[in-house]
Amino acid sequence: MSDALSSLHIFNSLSGKKELFRAIEDNHVGIYVCGPTVYSNVHLGNCRTFISFDLVYRYLRHLGYSVRYVRNITDAGHLEHDADDGEDRISKKARLERIEPMEVVQRYTVDFHQTLAAFNTLPPSIEPTATGHIIEQIEIVKGIIANGLGYEVNGSVYFDVQKYNSTKHYGVLSGRKLEDMIHNTRSLSGQSDKRSPQDFALWKKAEPQHIMRWPSPWGDGFPGWHLECTAMSTKYLGEQFDIHGGGMDLKFPHHECEIAQCEALNQKSPANTWMHANMLTLNGKKMAKSTGNNILPNELFNGSNPVLSKAFSPDAARFFMLQAHYRSILDLSSDALEAAEKGYKRLIQGIELLPDLPTSNESSVDINAHIDTYYAAMNDDFNSPVLIAQLFETVKLVHLLKKGEETLTAADVEKLSNSVHEFVFDVLGLTLATKEKDNTYLDKALSVLIDLREQARANKDFSTADRIRDELLAKGIQLKDGKDGTTYGLST
Ligand SMILES: [Zn+2]
Repeated sequence: MSDALSSLHIFNSLSGKKELFRAIEDNHVGIYVCGPTVYSNVHLGNCRTFISFDLVYRYLRHLGYSVRYVRNITDAGHLEHDADDGEDRISKKARLERIEPMEVVQRYTVDFHQTLAAFNTLPPSIEPTATGHIIEQIEIVKGIIANGLGYEVNGSVYFDVQKYNSTKHYGVLSGRKLEDMIHNTRSLSGQSDKRSPQDFALWKKAEPQHIMRWPSPWGDGFPGWHLECTAMSTKYLGEQFDIHGGGMDLKFPHHECEIAQCEALNQKSPANTWMHANMLTLNGKKMAKSTGNNILPNELFNGSNPVLSKAFSPDAARFFMLQAHYRSILDLSSDALEAAEKGYKRLIQGIELLPDLPTSNESSVDINAHIDTYYAAMNDDFNSPVLIAQLFETVKLVHLLKKGEETLTAADVEKLSNSVHEFVFDVLGLTLATKEKDNTYLDKALSVLIDLREQARANKDFSTADRIRDELLAKGIQLKDGKDGTTYGLST
């Protein structure tokens, strides 16, 4: 790998710093990302998280790594509250809708896959389910009990956080201290079997009405919220792997508990690098179904949500998300989406000029240095907004080349063209598919109208010529007269 390819720095939530990335095994990278709980339609904030990690996966592959990307499906349900006393979300939905829990799981897994496919995210290498790994989870609970850090009460097993914290640091990822957590917690006054409010469930006893249940050495029950990720990451990536990712909201307690479970079981911290994607807000406020400040991916694609002025393609929405760094909060609004859509069109129009650029015997621009700026952006903690800004510099260059104000050799044009395609389509995961499909017939129809207008002008019938131009404009299509004839664009 050249210098540009081997200087990837990633912000590690564990150290709070950007660190030079080195894979544990040469050319191989193992990455685990916490997937969705499939009890309702995937929401747009989750899509942002998975698009962020899709960017990570795509760039690592672009750098030449062989990547095993594991993203789980939580289909065993997990508890409504962190306190471990709530109801299993999948069971609750099944009971309310009078359907089988696996029907809930199937319905929303399909929705999840369809939505992420619309956003052009690549499927993970392995997508394991919690229900498919109950045996592995029970084995981990046994191991943690054997190591003295789990205890059973009335058919449930809990993790002993205080005992763990006497030799390790519970809070190492989120920067919390157990003493502060204890200080800030009200006592449970005998409502729970737990020795301490900070203890979390490894295995929960199933009450008679609980639908999803499995036999275990402690009686019928179901796994605790955090256990499946430890079971599946260990099984498919080993006791220690390169990157563990998820949404910012999972840092505590979920990821903290995963670290504690792995340390308790293997005396090893599971991942070298922890990455957390920030949240998506709507019109400056947190998205929540309960307040109505919420938008579903489908409402974005068909424009049916009242906060939107129009429909936005998944491609434009993906571009909008990638214009923010994954660690920044991103605020979605109709105006911001429209601005992103305009920018995206400008980028695509620039790319479309690449094949027909004039070439010269000499290059007036150092094209390698130009392309290095793409790598520099992505090597700086996957900085997609800076990459996009560099691609707009490329669009400027393309226009200068077209006007003959800068020159490139044929070999340099090809090099630039290949790099732009790799970064726009392979790395950013944008696609021209919709545009190509939609515009074929529009192109043909408009070329007929443009010819008629040319004829009218040649016959000095300016009223007909103007009428064609004005009526098209009223429908949002703008004709542009240039040196090489008339072209059209959308005037929105
Ligand atoms: Zn997880």
